[in-house]
Amino acid sequence: MSSSSVVPLYKRRTKYHFSLFCQARGGVYSYFVQTTFHIKGVRILDPASKTDTCGDLFIQNGLLAPVPSVLPPDTVTIDAKGLAAAPGFVDLHVHLREPGQEEAETVATGCCAAARGGFTTIVVMPNTRPALDNPGEIAVLATRAKAANLIHVLPAPCITQGRAGHKVAALDALAKAGAVAFTDDGCTVTDNGVMEAAMREAARLNLPVMDHALDPKLAGHGVMHEGACSRTLGLPGISSEAETVMVERDIRLSQSTGCAMHIQHLSAAGSVELLRAARKAGCRVSGELTPHHLALTDADVDAGKPECYKMNPPVRSEVDRAALIQGLLDGAISCFATDHAPHTAAAKAKGFLTAPFGVVGLETAVGVTYTLLVKEGLMSALDWVARWTTEPASVLGRPAPTLAPGAPADLILLDLDSEWIVRAEEFASKSRNTPFDGRRLTGRAEKTFCAGRLIFDRPSRPCVAGERDWQHAHTFAANRPFLPHKAAGDCTPNIVLMGFMGSGKSTVGKLLASRLGMKFVDMDTILEERAGKPISRIFAEEGEPHFRTLERALAQELSQEKGLVIACGGGVVLNPDNIRDYSRTGLVVCLTATPEVIFERTAKDRNRPLLEEQNRMQRILDLLAKRKGLYASLPHQVDTATHSALQVAETIVTLYRRG
Ligand SMILES: [Zn+2]
Repeated sequence: MSSSSVVPLYKRRTKYHFSLFCQARGGVYSYFVQTTFHIKGVRILDPASKTDTCGDLFIQNGLLAPVPSVLPPDTVTIDAKGLAAAPGFVDLHVHLREPGQEEAETVATGCCAAARGGFTTIVVMPNTRPALDNPGEIAVLATRAKAANLIHVLPAPCITQGRAGHKVAALDALAKAGAVAFTDDGCTVTDNGVMEAAMREAARLNLPVMDHALDPKLAGHGVMHEGACSRTLGLPGISSEAETVMVERDIRLSQSTGCAMHIQHLSAAGSVELLRAARKAGCRVSGELTPHHLALTDADVDAGKPECYKMNPPVRSEVDRAALIQGLLDGAISCFATDHAPHTAAAKAKGFLTAPFGVVGLETAVGVTYTLLVKEGLMSALDWVARWTTEPASVLGRPAPTLAPGAPADLILLDLDSEWIVRAEEFASKSRNTPFDGRRLTGRAEKTFCAGRLIFDRPSRPCVAGERDWQHAHTFAANRPFLPHKAAGDCTPNIVLMGFMGSGKSTVGKLLASRLGMKFVDMDTILEERAGKPISRIFAEEGEPHFRTLERALAQELSQEKGLVIACGGGVVLNPDNIRDYSRTGLVVCLTATPEVIFERTAKDRNRPLLEEQNRMQRILDLLAKRKGLYASLPHQVDTATHSALQVAETIVTLYRRG
């Protein structure tokens, strides 16, 4: 990188700078950056418009938009060759465990797992402690989801008060509070009278009822599918009839009440038949298939591993599995859902008889379903996307997710070609109870956008060179979606980006702002506005020391605001002491090109001895270490290496969140 090829940030007069320029007037820094993305050369999979074609996508102001002939100057371009874009996946069945079992999952970690898995919308089950059975609990969930600030979290509160099955909950109030469906998931409502009353009310509210169809009397104390395998293992079984009798009842009630009925996690061949016939007869019933019921049978069950194979309903025989697949292909089953059910290792270590039911699924669902259905040639990629997007949305009676211009920019970029191996220890979920650890799969989300913000970006290779700590940080950050600091329960300091000319502070800052939902402020631009002249002239006319004083005063001023991303000028080169001042303001991140380049360039530019520059660099590193700051050295200019910038931003966020 020669110095002549670098356009100093302060010389870049762009439209973006202009809008900041205007809003910075009067000391109000309300500029909110919604990064503009141009996704180039991507396979567009959009079931809503029946599109499977190659093209470009454009994201601006949180929405998809037609690609403009001239890209705005702040556009981040993503070369998506080899990737496929789909609307963000919708999961109708997620357990977040908060409140009550935060050691297994929280709203924030569950949202992270969802983002990492390619989901931008999840429907949350009500079997928390206390149960999600009143508007107050829905409000608490909404607050937590808002703090996580990643994806859309939709509540499916209880059918009955306390999930006890006796009294219908206040469905009307729950609907007003934002319920998208009602379920007592974990239990079925066995009292037909109660269920019928609830379904009449739900029909009036035009919301579906979702049932965990399993007769508890027939299921008894069973822990796996009742059949040859349960007898061999000597474990009590759960018969298929325990499910089918309830499915039959649910269909009957749907017909008599007119309420839309969705059968959760179907497991038995008999249920598929019932559902197929009912749907053919025009009944408002639907059903979901989980990745584990698609992939596993009772023959896979290892009695020593409840963390992998104990789920409710259980995985059943090969005949059942084949019937589920057939049902999915012919439309008897309309959609997938994960039944993501996190449990701690300690809870699952209690043995097969007493361990709780359930496996996690958010981070493996895309790979398992794509590998077993599309890669096996059973289903087209477009139909597969539909089962994760338009179909679950239709169960909820919501608009079909789409990639058409004007739609909310909730989308994912998928790698559908390369194989990967599931590593449960890398999960963003707090829990590891998966049957798929070590499984070789094809298909996974590489990037997840929600409301136009890039919320997850899977680093493909460590391309950030530099300090040991940085490398460590990068390894730590790999594969983790972002959480704003507040969600981690800490205070919210600012992030101060310092660095050298052309080190990409602005690009990284904008990406950070986009991911964290924070403001981005370019200090150089504000200083230029206040002085009424470009920085080069402030330097020339008033001298550099004066400029540094102005810069420091502005940093102190900005530090009064919480949760602000600041891109500083190049003060770190000339005055490493700024690190000390700025570390009171927030987390200091120093961005540079490789140190060698910096030594040579600054020595040449400022006409100083090389050794002096090397000492200065060492001083910068020492100060950063002392102040718990970060040093990021990039292989080349970040503006031209968006991928590096994304990774730098990701790592900063992870460390920021750790405090
Ligand atoms: Zn369930």
